Amino acid sequence: MLDLIIGGGDVVTPQGVVRGDVAVAGETIAAIAAPGALSAESTARVIDATGHIVMPGGIDPHVHLHHVWIKPDGTPLVTAGPEQVGRAALFGGTTTFIDFAYWRDGASARQAIEARDKDFVGKSPCDWAYHLMLHSEPPPEFSGQLAEAIEAGYPTLKIFTTNILPSRSGRMIDFGDIWEAFQVLAKAGGLGVIHAEDNDIVMHMYAKLIREGRVGFEHLAEVHNQLSEDLSFRRILRLAESVPGTALYMMHVSAGTGVAAIAEARGKGLPVYGETLHQYLNYSASDYKRPNGQIYHTYPSLKSQDDQQALWAGTASDTIHCIATDELCCTLKDKTVGNRIDDTTGGNSGVEPRLGVMYTEMVARRAYSLSRYVDLVSTNAAKIMGLYPRKGALAPGSDADIAILDPARRGKVRAADLHETDYTPWEGHDIFAWPVVTILRGKVMVESGRYFGSASDGRYLKRKISQKTLRGAAL
Ligand SMILES: [Zn+2]
Repeated sequence: MLDLIIGGGDVVTPQGVVRGDVAVAGETIAAIAAPGALSAESTARVIDATGHIVMPGGIDPHVHLHHVWIKPDGTPLVTAGPEQVGRAALFGGTTTFIDFAYWRDGASARQAIEARDKDFVGKSPCDWAYHLMLHSEPPPEFSGQLAEAIEAGYPTLKIFTTNILPSRSGRMIDFGDIWEAFQVLAKAGGLGVIHAEDNDIVMHMYAKLIREGRVGFEHLAEVHNQLSEDLSFRRILRLAESVPGTALYMMHVSAGTGVAAIAEARGKGLPVYGETLHQYLNYSASDYKRPNGQIYHTYPSLKSQDDQQALWAGTASDTIHCIATDELCCTLKDKTVGNRIDDTTGGNSGVEPRLGVMYTEMVARRAYSLSRYVDLVSTNAAKIMGLYPRKGALAPGSDADIAILDPARRGKVRAADLHETDYTPWEGHDIFAWPVVTILRGKVMVESGRYFGSASDGRYLKRKISQKTLRGAAL
Protein backbone atom coordinates (compact mmCIF):
# COMPACT_ATOMS: atom_id res chain seq x y z
CA MET A 1 0.00 0.00 0.00
CA LEU A 2 1.43 3.32 -1.08
CA ASP A 3 0.46 6.59 0.50
CA LEU A 4 1.38 8.85 -2.36
CA ILE A 5 2.48 8.76 -5.97
CA ILE A 6 3.98 11.84 -7.58
CA GLY A 7 3.44 11.01 -11.21
CA GLY A 8 5.01 11.95 -14.51
CA GLY A 9 7.53 14.58 -13.43
CA ASP A 10 11.17 15.06 -14.32
CA VAL A 11 12.68 13.42 -11.27
CA VAL A 12 16.16 14.43 -10.15
CA THR A 13 17.68 11.18 -8.85
CA PRO A 14 21.28 10.40 -7.83
CA GLN A 15 21.67 8.73 -11.22
CA GLY A 16 20.41 11.71 -13.19
CA VAL A 17 17.10 13.16 -14.32
CA VAL A 18 14.43 10.64 -15.33
CA ARG A 19 10.80 11.03 -16.38
CA GLY A 20 9.01 8.92 -13.82
CA ASP A 21 6.81 8.34 -10.80
CA VAL A 22 7.93 8.69 -7.19
CA ALA A 23 6.17 6.41 -4.73
CA VAL A 24 5.98 7.28 -1.04
CA ALA A 25 5.10 4.87 1.76
CA GLY A 26 4.89 6.40 5.21
CA GLU A 27 7.77 8.82 5.66
CA THR A 28 10.11 7.41 3.03
CA ILE A 29 10.43 6.90 -0.69
CA ALA A 30 9.36 3.39 -1.67
CA ALA A 31 10.27 3.40 -5.34
CA ILE A 32 11.01 5.43 -8.43
CA ALA A 33 9.45 3.84 -11.46
CA ALA A 34 8.67 4.43 -15.11
CA PRO A 35 5.58 6.57 -15.69
CA GLY A 36 2.43 4.56 -15.03
CA ALA A 37 4.31 1.50 -13.79
CA LEU A 38 3.04 1.85 -10.23
CA SER A 39 -0.53 0.93 -9.36
CA ALA A 40 -2.43 4.08 -8.52
CA GLU A 41 -5.48 2.04 -7.48
CA SER A 42 -4.18 1.04 -4.08
CA THR A 43 -2.60 4.43 -3.46
CA ALA A 44 -4.14 6.93 -1.10
CA ARG A 45 -3.20 9.94 -3.17
CA VAL A 46 -1.72 10.85 -6.57
CA ILE A 47 -0.14 14.22 -7.39
CA ASP A 48 0.20 14.89 -11.09
CA ALA A 49 3.67 16.37 -11.68
CA THR A 50 3.52 16.36 -15.47
CA GLY A 51 5.74 19.15 -16.78
CA HIS A 52 7.19 19.75 -13.32
CA ILE A 53 10.58 19.13 -11.72
CA VAL A 54 10.60 16.72 -8.78
CA MET A 55 13.67 17.17 -6.59
CA PRO A 56 14.87 16.49 -3.05
CA GLY A 57 13.78 19.17 -0.59
CA GLY A 58 16.26 22.01 -0.25
CA ILE A 59 18.83 21.90 2.55
CA ASP A 60 20.19 25.13 3.99
CA PRO A 61 23.29 24.27 6.04
CA HIS A 62 23.74 27.76 7.52
CA VAL A 63 20.91 29.62 9.27
CA HIS A 64 20.53 31.64 12.47
CA LEU A 65 17.00 31.38 13.87
CA HIS A 66 15.84 32.89 17.14
CA HIS A 67 19.27 34.50 17.25
CA VAL A 68 20.17 37.52 19.35
CA TRP A 69 21.84 40.46 17.63
CA ILE A 70 22.68 43.62 19.56
CA LYS A 71 21.35 46.77 17.88
CA PRO A 72 23.34 50.03 17.80
CA ASP A 73 21.37 51.37 20.80
CA GLY A 74 22.42 48.32 22.83
CA THR A 75 19.02 46.63 22.84
CA PRO A 76 18.72 43.06 21.64
CA LEU A 77 17.17 42.10 18.35
CA VAL A 78 15.82 38.55 18.50
CA THR A 79 15.47 37.26 14.97
CA ALA A 80 12.51 35.25 13.76
CA GLY A 81 12.41 31.70 15.06
CA PRO A 82 12.02 28.31 13.44
CA GLU A 83 8.23 28.45 13.25
CA GLN A 84 8.15 31.58 11.07
CA VAL A 85 11.31 30.86 9.10
CA GLY A 86 10.50 27.16 8.73
CA ARG A 87 7.11 27.96 7.24
CA ALA A 88 8.78 30.32 4.75
CA ALA A 89 11.43 27.71 3.97
CA LEU A 90 8.74 25.14 3.19
CA PHE A 91 6.93 27.59 0.91
CA GLY A 92 10.26 27.87 -0.89
CA GLY A 93 10.90 24.12 -1.18
CA THR A 94 13.44 23.80 1.65
CA THR A 95 12.75 21.04 4.18
CA THR A 96 15.92 20.95 6.34
CA PHE A 97 18.12 23.60 7.89
CA ILE A 98 21.17 23.55 10.14
CA ASP A 99 21.52 26.20 12.85
CA PHE A 100 23.95 26.58 15.73
CA ALA A 101 24.06 25.66 19.44
CA TYR A 102 26.08 28.19 21.42
CA TRP A 103 28.71 26.46 23.52
CA ARG A 104 29.92 29.11 25.95
CA ASP A 105 30.01 30.50 29.47
CA GLY A 106 31.44 27.36 30.98
CA ALA A 107 28.49 25.26 29.87
CA SER A 108 29.04 21.71 28.67
CA ALA A 109 28.36 20.68 25.09
CA ARG A 110 25.32 18.77 26.36
CA GLN A 111 23.97 21.89 28.11
CA ALA A 112 24.52 23.95 24.95
CA ILE A 113 22.45 21.49 22.94
CA GLU A 114 19.70 21.31 25.55
CA ALA A 115 19.50 25.09 25.76
CA ARG A 116 19.12 25.36 22.01
CA ASP A 117 16.49 22.62 21.96
CA LYS A 118 14.24 25.02 23.88
CA ASP A 119 14.18 27.28 20.80
CA PHE A 120 13.39 24.44 18.38
CA VAL A 121 11.63 21.42 19.83
CA GLY A 122 7.92 21.68 19.02
CA LYS A 123 8.58 24.95 17.21
CA SER A 124 10.08 23.88 13.89
CA PRO A 125 8.00 22.69 10.94
CA CYS A 126 11.27 21.80 9.11
CA ASP A 127 13.70 19.08 10.11
CA TRP A 128 16.79 20.63 11.65
CA ALA A 129 20.21 20.13 13.21
CA TYR A 130 22.85 22.25 14.96
CA HIS A 131 26.51 22.93 14.48
CA LEU A 132 28.09 23.28 17.94
CA MET A 133 29.46 26.84 18.04
CA LEU A 134 32.61 27.10 20.13
CA HIS A 135 33.30 30.39 21.94
CA SER A 136 36.59 31.79 23.10
CA GLU A 137 38.40 30.51 26.19
CA PRO A 138 37.04 26.97 25.96
CA PRO A 139 37.87 25.09 29.19
CA PRO A 140 40.43 22.25 29.02
CA GLU A 141 37.66 19.66 29.28
CA PHE A 142 36.12 20.85 26.03
CA SER A 143 37.99 18.31 23.93
CA GLY A 144 36.53 15.33 25.82
CA GLN A 145 33.04 16.80 25.54
CA LEU A 146 33.54 17.44 21.84
CA ALA A 147 34.45 13.80 21.25
CA GLU A 148 31.31 12.74 23.14
CA ALA A 149 29.13 15.16 21.18
CA ILE A 150 30.47 13.83 17.86
CA GLU A 151 29.74 10.30 19.03
CA ALA A 152 26.22 11.34 20.13
CA GLY A 153 25.27 12.66 16.67
CA TYR A 154 26.44 16.30 16.85
CA PRO A 155 29.51 16.02 14.63
CA THR A 156 30.08 19.59 13.36
CA LEU A 157 31.96 22.31 15.23
CA LYS A 158 31.74 26.00 14.27
CA ILE A 159 34.92 27.97 14.81
CA PHE A 160 35.52 31.70 14.29
CA THR A 161 38.98 33.09 13.65
CA THR A 162 37.72 36.65 14.18
CA ASN A 163 35.39 38.59 16.45
CA ILE A 164 33.97 40.14 13.25
CA LEU A 165 33.17 43.53 14.85
CA PRO A 166 35.29 45.70 17.18
CA SER A 167 32.48 45.86 19.74
CA ARG A 168 32.23 42.10 19.99
CA SER A 169 34.33 39.67 21.88
CA GLY A 170 34.03 36.03 22.68
CA ARG A 171 33.82 34.64 19.19
CA MET A 172 37.41 34.29 18.12
CA ILE A 173 39.19 31.07 19.04
CA ASP A 174 42.97 31.20 19.29
CA PHE A 175 44.99 28.88 17.12
CA GLY A 176 46.17 26.77 20.03
CA ASP A 177 42.60 25.85 20.92
CA ILE A 178 41.75 25.33 17.25
CA TRP A 179 44.72 22.99 17.01
CA GLU A 180 43.35 21.00 19.98
CA ALA A 181 39.89 20.96 18.42
CA PHE A 182 41.24 19.69 15.10
CA GLN A 183 42.95 16.78 16.85
CA VAL A 184 39.60 15.77 18.35
CA LEU A 185 37.73 16.22 15.07
CA ALA A 186 40.27 14.13 13.19
CA LYS A 187 40.22 11.35 15.76
CA ALA A 188 36.48 11.24 16.43
CA GLY A 189 35.25 11.80 12.88
CA GLY A 190 33.96 15.36 13.22
CA LEU A 191 33.89 18.21 10.72
CA GLY A 192 35.06 21.78 11.39
CA VAL A 193 32.77 24.47 9.98
CA ILE A 194 34.81 27.61 9.79
CA HIS A 195 34.20 31.37 9.70
CA ALA A 196 37.68 32.44 8.67
CA GLU A 197 38.78 36.07 8.56
CA ASP A 198 42.10 37.52 9.60
CA ASN A 199 41.24 39.35 12.82
CA ASP A 200 44.33 41.60 12.67
CA ILE A 201 43.52 42.83 9.17
CA VAL A 202 39.83 43.30 9.91
CA MET A 203 40.39 45.22 13.18
CA HIS A 204 43.16 47.26 11.56
CA MET A 205 40.82 48.31 8.79
CA TYR A 206 38.07 49.24 11.27
CA ALA A 207 40.50 51.50 13.11
CA LYS A 208 41.85 52.99 9.90
CA LEU A 209 38.47 53.76 8.32
CA ILE A 210 37.09 55.17 11.59
CA ARG A 211 40.21 57.41 11.82
CA GLU A 212 39.62 58.57 8.25
CA GLY A 213 35.92 59.20 8.86
CA ARG A 214 34.84 56.65 6.27
CA VAL A 215 32.39 54.84 8.50
CA GLY A 216 29.44 54.25 6.17
CA PHE A 217 28.54 50.61 5.61
CA GLU A 218 29.24 51.00 1.89
CA HIS A 219 32.92 50.64 2.89
CA LEU A 220 32.44 47.17 4.43
CA ALA A 221 34.30 45.43 1.60
CA GLU A 222 37.44 47.40 2.49
CA VAL A 223 37.25 46.12 6.08
CA HIS A 224 36.33 42.50 5.47
CA ASN A 225 38.59 42.29 2.46
CA GLN A 226 40.15 39.79 0.06
CA LEU A 227 43.52 39.83 1.85
CA SER A 228 41.83 38.89 5.12
CA GLU A 229 40.16 35.92 3.44
CA ASP A 230 43.42 34.91 1.76
CA LEU A 231 45.51 34.97 4.95
CA SER A 232 42.93 33.38 7.22
CA PHE A 233 41.92 30.60 4.83
CA ARG A 234 45.54 29.67 4.22
CA ARG A 235 46.43 29.74 7.90
CA ILE A 236 43.54 27.51 8.95
CA LEU A 237 43.98 25.16 6.00
CA ARG A 238 47.68 24.84 6.82
CA LEU A 239 46.78 24.03 10.43
CA ALA A 240 44.33 21.39 9.19
CA GLU A 241 47.01 19.91 6.97
CA SER A 242 49.25 19.50 10.00
CA VAL A 243 46.64 17.35 11.75
CA PRO A 244 46.03 14.50 9.30
CA GLY A 245 42.38 13.59 8.98
CA THR A 246 41.01 17.06 9.73
CA ALA A 247 38.03 17.75 7.47
CA LEU A 248 36.83 21.33 7.05
CA TYR A 249 33.84 23.13 5.57
CA MET A 250 34.63 26.76 4.82
CA MET A 251 31.51 28.83 5.44
CA HIS A 252 30.33 31.79 3.37
CA VAL A 253 33.32 32.03 1.01
CA SER A 254 33.09 35.57 -0.34
CA ALA A 255 36.32 36.23 -2.29
CA GLY A 256 38.35 34.78 -5.12
CA THR A 257 41.24 34.41 -2.67
CA GLY A 258 39.10 32.04 -0.60
CA VAL A 259 38.14 30.00 -3.65
CA ALA A 260 41.83 29.74 -4.64
CA ALA A 261 42.87 28.62 -1.14
CA ILE A 262 40.24 25.87 -1.10
CA ALA A 263 41.21 24.74 -4.62
CA GLU A 264 44.84 24.52 -3.56
CA ALA A 265 44.00 22.49 -0.44
CA ARG A 266 41.77 20.15 -2.42
CA GLY A 267 44.54 19.82 -4.98
CA LYS A 268 46.67 18.36 -2.18
CA GLY A 269 43.92 15.86 -1.46
CA LEU A 270 42.74 17.51 1.76
CA PRO A 271 39.08 16.97 2.76
CA VAL A 272 38.01 20.61 2.41
CA TYR A 273 34.64 21.83 1.18
CA GLY A 274 33.34 25.28 0.30
CA GLU A 275 30.08 27.13 0.92
CA THR A 276 29.01 30.44 -0.52
CA LEU A 277 25.83 32.43 -0.03
CA HIS A 278 23.24 33.25 -2.62
CA GLN A 279 23.80 36.97 -2.14
CA TYR A 280 27.58 36.67 -2.67
CA LEU A 281 26.95 35.03 -6.05
CA ASN A 282 24.51 37.66 -7.19
CA TYR A 283 25.45 40.95 -5.56
CA SER A 284 28.70 42.85 -5.21
CA ALA A 285 29.97 45.74 -3.07
CA SER A 286 28.48 48.26 -5.53
CA ASP A 287 25.02 47.12 -4.37
CA TYR A 288 25.74 48.69 -0.96
CA LYS A 289 25.13 52.04 -2.68
CA ARG A 290 21.55 51.16 -3.60
CA PRO A 291 18.63 52.32 -1.38
CA ASN A 292 18.63 50.29 1.86
CA GLY A 293 21.90 48.76 0.67
CA GLN A 294 22.33 46.99 4.03
CA ILE A 295 19.77 44.40 2.88
CA TYR A 296 22.41 42.81 0.61
CA HIS A 297 24.99 42.58 3.37
CA THR A 298 26.09 39.74 5.53
CA TYR A 299 29.48 39.26 7.20
CA PRO A 300 32.21 38.97 5.97
CA SER A 301 30.99 41.31 3.16
CA LEU A 302 30.04 41.56 -0.48
CA LYS A 303 33.15 41.87 -2.62
CA SER A 304 33.99 42.88 -6.21
CA GLN A 305 32.52 41.54 -9.41
CA ASP A 306 35.78 39.67 -10.02
CA ASP A 307 35.24 37.86 -6.72
CA GLN A 308 31.70 37.09 -7.77
CA GLN A 309 33.03 35.53 -10.99
CA ALA A 310 35.51 33.45 -9.00
CA LEU A 311 32.69 32.17 -6.78
CA TRP A 312 30.66 31.19 -9.83
CA ALA A 313 33.69 29.42 -11.27
CA GLY A 314 34.00 27.62 -7.91
CA THR A 315 30.43 26.29 -8.17
CA ALA A 316 31.26 24.89 -11.60
CA SER A 317 34.58 23.31 -10.60
CA ASP A 318 33.79 21.51 -7.32
CA THR A 319 35.46 24.10 -5.12
CA ILE A 320 32.20 25.60 -3.86
CA HIS A 321 29.78 22.81 -2.94
CA CYS A 322 26.85 24.47 -1.18
CA ILE A 323 24.81 27.64 -1.56
CA ALA A 324 23.42 28.71 1.81
CA THR A 325 21.62 31.81 3.07
CA ASP A 326 23.19 32.74 6.43
CA GLU A 327 19.56 33.39 7.31
CA LEU A 328 18.88 36.02 9.94
CA CYS A 329 15.26 36.93 9.51
CA CYS A 330 14.20 40.33 10.79
CA THR A 331 12.20 43.33 9.62
CA LEU A 332 13.52 45.90 7.14
CA LYS A 333 13.61 48.40 10.01
CA ASP A 334 15.91 46.15 12.02
CA LYS A 335 18.01 45.12 9.01
CA THR A 336 18.72 48.80 8.22
CA VAL A 337 18.94 50.17 11.79
CA GLY A 338 22.74 50.04 11.64
CA ASN A 339 24.40 51.99 8.86
CA ARG A 340 28.06 52.06 9.86
CA ILE A 341 30.84 49.62 9.11
CA ASP A 342 30.78 48.63 12.77
CA ASP A 343 27.07 48.30 13.48
CA THR A 344 25.36 46.96 10.37
CA THR A 345 23.18 43.92 10.98
CA GLY A 346 24.60 40.71 9.58
CA GLY A 347 22.76 37.78 8.11
CA ASN A 348 20.11 37.82 5.50
CA SER A 349 16.56 36.96 4.60
CA GLY A 350 16.37 34.35 1.88
CA VAL A 351 15.34 30.80 2.84
CA GLU A 352 12.13 31.09 0.85
CA PRO A 353 13.39 32.44 -2.49
CA ARG A 354 16.72 30.53 -2.44
CA LEU A 355 15.60 27.62 -4.61
CA GLY A 356 13.71 29.84 -7.08
CA VAL A 357 16.43 32.49 -7.32
CA MET A 358 19.21 29.94 -7.78
CA TYR A 359 17.20 28.09 -10.42
CA THR A 360 17.00 31.34 -12.37
CA GLU A 361 20.70 32.08 -11.98
CA MET A 362 22.00 28.55 -12.54
CA VAL A 363 19.63 26.65 -14.80
CA ALA A 364 17.91 29.45 -16.75
CA ARG A 365 20.81 31.91 -17.06
CA ARG A 366 23.98 29.78 -16.90
CA ALA A 367 22.83 26.47 -18.36
CA TYR A 368 23.74 24.45 -15.26
CA SER A 369 22.24 20.97 -15.36
CA LEU A 370 19.33 20.25 -13.05
CA SER A 371 21.54 17.74 -11.25
CA ARG A 372 24.27 20.29 -10.50
CA TYR A 373 21.67 22.79 -9.31
CA VAL A 374 20.19 20.20 -6.95
CA ASP A 375 23.68 19.27 -5.73
CA LEU A 376 24.38 22.89 -4.79
CA VAL A 377 21.07 23.61 -3.02
CA SER A 378 20.49 20.22 -1.40
CA THR A 379 22.47 17.05 -2.07
CA ASN A 380 26.01 18.25 -1.36
CA ALA A 381 24.96 19.70 2.01
CA ALA A 382 23.49 16.31 2.92
CA LYS A 383 26.65 14.51 1.83
CA ILE A 384 29.04 16.85 3.65
CA MET A 385 26.99 17.27 6.84
CA GLY A 386 26.31 13.58 7.44
CA LEU A 387 22.68 13.42 6.31
CA TYR A 388 23.05 11.46 3.07
CA PRO A 389 21.26 9.43 1.73
CA ARG A 390 18.52 9.97 4.32
CA LYS A 391 18.29 13.57 3.07
CA GLY A 392 19.27 15.13 -0.24
CA ALA A 393 18.30 12.16 -2.42
CA LEU A 394 15.24 10.88 -4.21
CA ALA A 395 15.98 7.19 -3.84
CA PRO A 396 14.26 4.18 -2.25
CA GLY A 397 14.67 4.35 1.54
CA SER A 398 15.42 8.08 1.66
CA ASP A 399 13.15 10.41 3.61
CA ALA A 400 10.31 11.58 1.36
CA ASP A 401 11.41 15.23 1.44
CA ILE A 402 10.37 16.50 -1.94
CA ALA A 403 10.04 19.85 -3.69
CA ILE A 404 8.01 20.04 -6.89
CA LEU A 405 8.98 23.02 -9.04
CA ASP A 406 6.90 24.50 -11.82
CA PRO A 407 9.35 25.55 -14.56
CA ALA A 408 6.61 27.37 -16.46
CA ARG A 409 6.16 29.88 -13.66
CA ARG A 410 7.16 33.44 -14.64
CA GLY A 411 7.14 36.67 -12.70
CA LYS A 412 9.20 38.61 -10.18
CA VAL A 413 10.08 37.92 -6.58
CA ARG A 414 8.03 40.22 -4.35
CA ALA A 415 8.37 40.40 -0.58
CA ALA A 416 4.58 40.70 -0.39
CA ASP A 417 4.22 37.26 -2.01
CA LEU A 418 6.69 35.63 0.39
CA HIS A 419 6.08 34.38 3.93
CA GLU A 420 9.36 35.45 5.44
CA THR A 421 9.43 39.11 6.52
CA ASP A 422 8.56 42.56 5.15
CA TYR A 423 11.50 42.81 2.74
CA THR A 424 13.57 40.62 0.50
CA PRO A 425 16.98 41.32 -1.05
CA TRP A 426 15.55 39.55 -4.12
CA GLU A 427 12.78 42.08 -4.80
CA GLY A 428 12.18 42.20 -8.57
CA HIS A 429 14.38 39.19 -9.33
CA ASP A 430 13.15 37.17 -12.34
CA ILE A 431 11.40 33.87 -11.71
CA PHE A 432 11.89 30.97 -14.10
CA ALA A 433 10.67 28.21 -11.77
CA TRP A 434 9.05 28.11 -8.35
CA PRO A 435 8.19 25.41 -5.81
CA VAL A 436 4.48 24.59 -5.90
CA VAL A 437 4.41 21.54 -3.62
CA THR A 438 6.69 20.76 -0.66
CA ILE A 439 6.62 17.44 1.15
CA LEU A 440 8.39 16.64 4.44
CA ARG A 441 8.81 12.95 5.26
CA GLY A 442 5.72 12.09 3.25
CA LYS A 443 3.50 14.88 4.57
CA VAL A 444 2.36 17.53 2.10
CA MET A 445 3.37 20.76 3.86
CA VAL A 446 2.67 23.28 1.08
CA GLU A 447 0.50 22.84 -1.96
CA SER A 448 -0.75 25.48 -4.41
CA GLY A 449 -0.05 28.32 -2.02
CA ARG A 450 -1.68 26.66 1.00
CA TYR A 451 0.18 25.65 4.14
CA PHE A 452 -0.56 22.36 5.86
CA GLY A 453 2.47 22.19 8.15
CA SER A 454 2.61 22.58 11.89
CA ALA A 455 5.32 23.59 14.32
CA SER A 456 5.53 20.05 15.65
CA ASP A 457 6.28 18.45 12.27
CA GLY A 458 10.05 18.99 12.33
CA ARG A 459 12.51 16.61 13.94
CA TYR A 460 16.09 16.93 15.08
CA LEU A 461 18.50 15.10 12.79
CA LYS A 462 21.34 13.31 14.52
CA ARG A 463 24.22 13.00 12.10
CA LYS A 464 27.39 11.08 11.39
CA ILE A 465 29.94 12.38 8.91
CA SER A 466 30.62 9.72 6.29
CA GLN A 467 34.08 8.23 5.81
CA LYS A 468 33.96 9.42 2.22
CA THR A 469 33.47 13.00 3.36
CA LEU A 470 36.23 12.71 5.95
CA ARG A 471 38.62 11.35 3.35
CA GLY A 472 37.76 14.09 0.86
CA ALA A 473 36.33 11.62 -1.59
CA ALA A 474 32.63 12.47 -1.23
CA LEU A 475 32.64 15.34 -3.69
ZN1 LIG B 1 26.29 32.78 9.81
